[in-house]
Amino acid sequence: MLGLLHGLVRPDTSGEVATYIPELARADPDHFGLALVSLVGRCYDAGDAGVEFTIQSISKPFVFALALSERGLEGVLERVGAEPSGDAFNAISLDPTTGRPSNPMINAGAIATTALVDAGRGEDRFERIRSTLSAFAGRELTVDEAVYRSEKETGDRNRALGYLMRNAGSLEPPVEEVVDAYFRQCSLRVTARDLAVMAATLANEGLNPVTGENVVPPRVAEQTCAVMASCGMYDYAGEWMLRVGLPAKSGVSGGLVAVCPGQFGIGLFSPPLDSRGNSVRAVVAGQILSERYSLQLVHRRRATSPVLSFDTHQVGDGAGSQGTAQVLTLQGDIEFAAAEIVLSTVEELRGEVISAPSWLVIDLARVPFVQPFAGEMLSAMIRDVAGTGRRVVVADPMQRELFPDAAVELPSAYLALAWCGERSQSVGPPPL
Ligand code: GLU
Repeated sequence: MLGLLHGLVRPDTSGEVATYIPELARADPDHFGLALVSLVGRCYDAGDAGVEFTIQSISKPFVFALALSERGLEGVLERVGAEPSGDAFNAISLDPTTGRPSNPMINAGAIATTALVDAGRGEDRFERIRSTLSAFAGRELTVDEAVYRSEKETGDRNRALGYLMRNAGSLEPPVEEVVDAYFRQCSLRVTARDLAVMAATLANEGLNPVTGENVVPPRVAEQTCAVMASCGMYDYAGEWMLRVGLPAKSGVSGGLVAVCPGQFGIGLFSPPLDSRGNSVRAVVAGQILSERYSLQLVHRRRATSPVLSFDTHQVGDGAGSQGTAQVLTLQGDIEFAAAEIVLSTVEELRGEVISAPSWLVIDLARVPFVQPFAGEMLSAMIRDVAGTGRRVVVADPMQRELFPDAAVELPSAYLALAWCGERSQSVGPPPL
């Protein structure tokens, strides 16, 4: 699939390689790499997916994630906004009264974000950034010294942004120190494959699917994706969302990351840029992928039934005393739509004539996650069932105690049935 896409997009040679940083002008415009990393850590790639280039602006969301982990959302929002600026990456997009930059994906906001990374831990600010981005990528990233020097020599506009913010009181540490860390973070070398792993880590709630390392908390991964969705593609962010619909970030060296939450991460690389500073081939490839595989974030996902089976068992103490246990075996993550399916299944079977005493066993062994909203719906159902005289037993090997209204929670459906059997005598008359 990626090979075909590569072949399809490769002939497009339009766009210009960035030249405002002299070292970037040396990029080979023919390079074109694509990579996709799934949440089980499998990598699919095509073309120049192993060629190194400097990460540039794609460092911004990952440093933002680091700042969020250290300071929390409110702490970060005090210093950087979350509104798309609609301006170019190096725009002087500062609030006239507070000096706060519009968002962390443009240079001003990114410099303010870099300043938020705590340097007071005996560790240098840049080293913290480098090690976090390395954890996202699953390998040690290093600085391209030539690009770093070139950035530093030509970075007066970024310094100017820093001084404006410091003058307005929105940047605390010395400007030179912060922009130096920023130039270095932009000069970290990555490949399209690295970018795909970094994106997959965001898609996987902050857990790197290749190394198994927990890089940032789930909430932070979510917040980072949210800002990428609204501000990640320079002044093309709105149209990108409309045409592709994935949280993404591009950089002036021709890289692009896109996150398909819960599914995979994508990394693309092709140096020629369009007039907005986004890689021409990466944008076209993103659009084709999204259209062909319905990747749009707002695309309706269909709920699959979580009900694997609903069986009725006779249980007894072996001395003639009998009861009925209905075992509802669920599978997969349970969210709102899935919980509704469980509710209607139980409702349908409620009318069945069964011998009493009776139990409803809910087997959660194959349910990795119950979304809180769905959990409340199932809790209400359990209370409802209990109100009709049937006792509810939860079988959960993970012993999560998700449903305190159940009579008991046992580690397996087998033990739950045995438990019901032992009690088939001691329960009162059948409900009418
Ligand atoms: N180092 C670049 C700059 O600040 C990053 C720009 C970008 O990739 O958008 O000028």
